[in-house]
Amino acid sequence: GLQPRPDLILLDVMMPEMDGYVVMQRLRADPATADIPVIFVTAMHDAESEEHGLELGAVDYIVKPISPAIVRARVRTHIELKRQRDLLEDHAALDGLTGIANRRRFDQDLIRAWHSAQRSGSTLTLMIIDVDHFKRYNDHYGHTPGDECLRRVAAALERAFGRGEDLAARYGGEEFALLLAGNGGEAQMLRVLNAIAQLEIPHARSDTSLWVSVSVGGVTASPAPGSSADALLALADQLLYAAKAGGRD
Ligand code: GH3
Ligand code: MG
Ligand code: MG
Repeated sequence: GLQPRPDLILLDVMMPEMDGYVVMQRLRADPATADIPVIFVTAMHDAESEEHGLELGAVDYIVKPISPAIVRARVRTHIELKRQRDLLEDHAALDGLTGIANRRRFDQDLIRAWHSAQRSGSTLTLMIIDVDHFKRYNDHYGHTPGDECLRRVAAALERAFGRGEDLAARYGGEEFALLLAGNGGEAQMLRVLNAIAQLEIPHARSDTSLWVSVSVGGVTASPAPGSSADALLALADQLLYAAKAGGRD
């Protein structure tokens, strides 16, 4: 699972086991901690030490003896900056039209989930979902109702799957993607079809259904060591194509 990460680290330079500069370098080298801001708090007040700390990427450098009020003020400033950066990052992970996760977020989470499943030997499920006859939907009802349809499909997927570690994302255009922990199989796929069918969005120009329907390509896998997630995506895509050729919905 995901561990809570600190928003800010106060780091001493002189410590018994490992000096603060080395700790800093290790934090930077690990993608999980690389972007956590670090403030050095140290008795070393020479300019060279301070320069070294800042060059390693520390956001601030405080010399002991400390003034509690000054430390508090600096901490407050850096926490606020971190909060704003997190906000921007969250925003950059959302799809503008539907408000659910976007492809950027999905690709990131897929790689992370893939590596984590590789380490733990667990399985994960990936589904690509494509709205059926959506070009005709736009042609018949117009582009704005088309947008509204995509919003409703996104919201239904988010309601059904966007919980806990699972992720529902807009993959692009009228395509969506799900990333689920564990086995998926037919039951999960039926949940997708039901979630969309229950919306009962009329589609007068579909020869598949009276309502807007979707086709799904899904794969459940236990990642082998050294394998990449690209093959999983490619396979899900192939299966989606087969679902389209096999009659959609
Ligand atoms: P199929 O059942 O084979 O998937 O047919 P389709 O018509 O859904 O597939 P096709 O790829 O031919 O058309 C996809 C359409 O989705 C074309 C494009 O205009 C529409 N589309 C993509 N993104 C958006 C969007 O953001 N808003 C709207 N309204 N339409 C979009
Ligand atoms: Mg498509
Ligand atoms: Mg389509």
